[in-house]
This record gives sequence, structure tokens and C-alpha cells, in this order.
Amino acid sequence: MISAGETFGDLKVVEYVGQKKSSSISKHESSHYLCECDCGKTIEVNEPSLVYKIVKNCGCSKFRKRTRSKSK
Ligand SMILES: [Zn+2]
Repeated sequence: MISAGETFGDLKVVEYVGQKKSSSISKHESSHYLCECDCGKTIEVNEPSLVYKIVKNCGCSKFRKRTRSKSK
């Protein structure tokens, strides 16, 4: 069980949402949590994805690649 305030990567758990199917192909339901990403966006993530660190942010991290200065 995850409690509000716990953090997983860039995500901070805001509240428990409820039991939901994690995807259209999955047959079983899992606990979903509303999480706030470091960037301020909120997403719903299921418990296994948080616990096993499958989802660590809202998807914004790929846009946050370290860009090195090109100036010589
Ligand atoms: Zn984000």
C-alpha cells in the first residue's frame, strides 16, 4: 500500500484514486494513484508501475535530456 506523499522518481503520490484496469488489454484491476510529477503535471499511475519503478515521471523526462552547450 502506497501512502500519499511518497515519492517514486519524479512522481509524488497525491491521493489514492481507486481500483482500475491499468490498460484495455489487462483483465485485472490494480490500485491507481494520482501522482504529481516534478514538472507540475499530474497523472494517474497504477501501483505496480510505481513500486517497480516502471513509471518514474509523467513522460516529460525525455524532453529533459541533458543538453550540452554547443558553444566552443
Ligand atoms: Zn513531468
